[in-house]
Amino acid sequence: MRSSLAFSLPLSLALLTPHPVMAQAAVDSALGAYIASIRAIDTHAHPMRPVATGEPADSEYDALPLDGIPPFGFPHRLTQEDPIWQRAQFALYGVPIAMPDSARKSALDAAVTGNIAKRGLHFPEWALDEAGVDVMFANRVAMGPGLDTPRFRWIAFVDALMLPLDTRAEGTTPDTRVLYPRETRLLRRYLRDLGITRTPGTPGTLAEYVRRVVTPTLERQRAAGAIAVKFEAAYLRPLDFADPDSAQAARVYAHYSSGGVPTHAEYKALEDYLFRVIARAAGRLGMSVQIHSLETFGSYYKSAGAAPHLLEPTFNDSTLRGTNFVVIHGGWPLVNETQALLAKPNVYTDISAMDLILSPTELARVLRQWLGEFPDKVLYGSDAFDGGTEQGWEQVAWVGSMTARRALGIALTGMMRDGEISRSRAEALARMVLRENAITAYRLSGVSR
Ligand SMILES: [Zn+2]
Repeated sequence: MRSSLAFSLPLSLALLTPHPVMAQAAVDSALGAYIASIRAIDTHAHPMRPVATGEPADSEYDALPLDGIPPFGFPHRLTQEDPIWQRAQFALYGVPIAMPDSARKSALDAAVTGNIAKRGLHFPEWALDEAGVDVMFANRVAMGPGLDTPRFRWIAFVDALMLPLDTRAEGTTPDTRVLYPRETRLLRRYLRDLGITRTPGTPGTLAEYVRRVVTPTLERQRAAGAIAVKFEAAYLRPLDFADPDSAQAARVYAHYSSGGVPTHAEYKALEDYLFRVIARAAGRLGMSVQIHSLETFGSYYKSAGAAPHLLEPTFNDSTLRGTNFVVIHGGWPLVNETQALLAKPNVYTDISAMDLILSPTELARVLRQWLGEFPDKVLYGSDAFDGGTEQGWEQVAWVGSMTARRALGIALTGMMRDGEISRSRAEALARMVLRENAITAYRLSGVSR
């Protein structure tokens, strides 16, 4: 097991490179070394709290964990079939590649368990060091011991605030029937945090709900250190948040706040209104807004409803220009739609999950396309999530970081060789994507450039 970052990073990059000769052709070696040395800001991830044996498992890593929905397909690179995971396990735990399956499983189990026990609350920090990450944004319901500032920053979930009424008519697929009740439980938790025990009719009007629940919850999240809020709405409904009709929203809320199930059209009017209220208030409080936009996950997931272009009316709302938005996961595979939105001054995107799903070569193509037009709008993220011993979040964070760095190396080397940019500009672009753009997009204070 290695501990020196300076030693492990270039070696780790080499692990992603099947043929050293071709690698030299794809990535300028000095530029590759420079990229490997950048301490990144990972703007989207789900790190786990270290839990001692006997303690309950960490269940706060996502507002919408997907383990309760029917089985669904994973992109190939996220499955254990892909050799990238063995490379991660070799880099982090020294488990030899090409070991027989059963021996590899027990070697890995022993290495992971031993490492967690040895590092205790410092395990998350160790994971960041191994991935060359300085700061990781944690998309979590709540933070906890081991996930402390300055290495970790909190991003809170806010979809639940859009859903104050009975959602029983909204869950129309086997996926959403499982997911809506999770939002209901999370809203109950937010209300409890505010000291509101919900009895029918409380709060009775929409204005009161916004004043007593929405705004104070966002203020609490901000005060507890949240730098941004996240919408996972695409798992529940299309991202077509319409220009809100506030009178209609108020009528719907007043009619159903003490009971009854709104129709879908009624609920949509209320959600569309609250979405913008939340986004506007977040901006006022200095928090950016992340929106999940990706082809997957879930076998009943509506990928068309996650298309980046559906967000254009939101991004064109002049009352929301004080809020920075980040199209999470690059809107993959609709990266052209995402690119078109980056012209708006307050819209950014990140490559989280793309650097898990795509090969470095494929990701390089997208990066080169985006960096040619909007180099200050593209952010690094991994979407590191936990998949147990064989795909722990520390492994996912490592894979995301190594893939993104290699992809950047390929894209920037190509631009340099084609005479589009100088070497110093290539280095600047690498710093922007891996670190500096995040400081602007999330208005981070206390982090150097
Ligand atoms: Zn995520």
